[in-house]
Amino acid sequence: MATMLMAPSCSRTAQKAAPDDDFNYHVDRFADIEVLRYKVPDFDSLTLNQKILVYYLTEAAIWGRDILWDQNNASNLDMRDLLEAVYTNYSGDRNDADYKAFETYVKQVWFGNGIHHHYSTDKFVPEFSRAFLEEQIMALPEGTAPDNTAELVELIFNPTLDAKRVNQAEGADLIATSANNMYEKGVTQKEVEDYFNSIKKPNDLTPISYGLNSRIRKENGKIVEDRYRLGGLYTEAIEHIVANLDSAKAYAENPAQKQIIESLINFYTTGDLADFDKYSIEWAEDTASQVDFINGFIESYGDPLGMTGSWESIVNFKNIPASERTEILSSNAQWFENNSPVDARFKKEKVKGVSAKVITAAILAGDAYPATPIGINLPNANWIRAAHGSKSVTLENITQAYDAASHGDGFNEEFVIDQPTRELLDNYLFITDNLHTDLHECLGHGSGKLLPGVDPDALKAHGSTIEEARADLFALYYLADPKLLEIGLLDNPDAYKAEYYKYILNGMMTQLMRIEPGKDVEEAHMRNRKLIAEWCYEKGKDANVIELVKRDGKTFIQINDYQALRGLFGELLAEIQRIRSTGDYDAAQNLVETYAVKVDPELHKEVLDRYATLSIAPYKGFVNPVYTAERDANGKITDVKVSYTEGYPEQMLRYSRDYNGLKKH
Ligand code: ZN
Repeated sequence: MATMLMAPSCSRTAQKAAPDDDFNYHVDRFADIEVLRYKVPDFDSLTLNQKILVYYLTEAAIWGRDILWDQNNASNLDMRDLLEAVYTNYSGDRNDADYKAFETYVKQVWFGNGIHHHYSTDKFVPEFSRAFLEEQIMALPEGTAPDNTAELVELIFNPTLDAKRVNQAEGADLIATSANNMYEKGVTQKEVEDYFNSIKKPNDLTPISYGLNSRIRKENGKIVEDRYRLGGLYTEAIEHIVANLDSAKAYAENPAQKQIIESLINFYTTGDLADFDKYSIEWAEDTASQVDFINGFIESYGDPLGMTGSWESIVNFKNIPASERTEILSSNAQWFENNSPVDARFKKEKVKGVSAKVITAAILAGDAYPATPIGINLPNANWIRAAHGSKSVTLENITQAYDAASHGDGFNEEFVIDQPTRELLDNYLFITDNLHTDLHECLGHGSGKLLPGVDPDALKAHGSTIEEARADLFALYYLADPKLLEIGLLDNPDAYKAEYYKYILNGMMTQLMRIEPGKDVEEAHMRNRKLIAEWCYEKGKDANVIELVKRDGKTFIQINDYQALRGLFGELLAEIQRIRSTGDYDAAQNLVETYAVKVDPELHKEVLDRYATLSIAPYKGFVNPVYTAERDANGKITDVKVSYTEGYPEQMLRYSRDYNGLKKH
């Protein structure tokens, strides 16, 4: 599972910029997108062997790019050829309105890894004329345009063709109405479901991840799976991935890591999903290596049926000092459990902290590029997680880049009540926000227990909202605890106030910018934040704990009593844990319906209007650094250098030119 940061500036409003930080995080801005750059701090502190290992793994990562493009839509690779040909051959006026709209469109397609938006999965709408594009195509050098150019042009301008990449509207045939290329056109949802039902073993306690690495088509009226593997579908790209994995293997940090790489190569060779499970188990159990990576068909959000994995890769290495933070929390897990404000009946006698590690991303690729998750929790197979553990990681150099880039975007000046509070956020929000995530992930979700006989699914549709609220409240309650100073994770007893202020501001106001006018709050994390903030506002009303202050027609949050707010977080945590432990569906529903769903239309409009004046891009993504291997006269790598100067179109064009294994013509 991946943790996405949808609109960074609302969940992280500020950070303390490093004093010597003249790194330029901003790369490009178009449509609803901002492209940023991230640093890879401490790359130079890796050993030469580790650097070479990272280098080959990053090559293996970039080689998978075209697989994802083709999975997203059958026309994507040809479309990219056509658009890039026009883009690079254009010799007209660059201020021409049609050209500017065309340039935006090309940048959007690069960002979406195809013709659909990465998040909404709707097809991009061109704002240049068809005549403009046709004129440019006519002017292309002989043999540059793909053979199916006429169809591609029609696909751009006909809104009814391949309108949505992943359709999840209830009642529709999800396969027939989705434009991805994981299923051949003409295959129906029912045929696919019948097929998988017929091959699934009943009562299988260790099921393979059915459909993860295949494209479905029909042959003589029967469903068949074409596997993504060496010698099978996408073999031209997979050959390059495997060759680089093979080179990486020689530089593995230890025998276990070497074995993991061998198992992954074996899976790419056989395409057998039992081999994928073997690889996943070895990967989950390796906690000793500093360098780590995922590479393959992992997350299934791109398939409306949630089975086929979209190709992705992230190469990373452990941030050792930052990981100490989560290790300290995990080693104190029992103390936190014993001292929480919940009823003793609902506490775990023996609690085990999840050892989440903090990592530095070295490259983002496939479905993790340019838009990327900030956290990953894998493997996805539940039985492997239960029996062999899982890895939960935070990509701290990515969150750091989001934070640094949002610095000075005007958000705090617009929404934070006064200068002292803004200073508090500048000084302590980055560290307390990270600690909040650590407490939530390492301790919050793992705390507490169900009473005997309580159905874990008793809270039904409200289950995830209540579960997220439980983990958030656990984190909020302990952020203000002197224990964090005692174990050395905070150095100021007032630091927690930064996270408290941001949490209430976000929960009551600023997260509303992601909701369209007239709509309710639906997403579980957003409901949870609203539930907590609104509940505390209401329960603290008599004591004036949280106040809504009006100034020049604008609403501001003022927190008058932070310690009382901590008391309210503790009270709500006790109640939420009771609801979860006893499976009290009615109480869950009542809390959610009272505090988490309905939006005050006046406040909503105000937030949207104020936000609109800031011109902050709703979606962000990244260009990668460039790794260059320096070689001696015999071709042996003597060092790997990292640079941060490549621009967004330059990187996209270079990847298309140098890593185009699947090109058909
Ligand atoms: Zn959570």
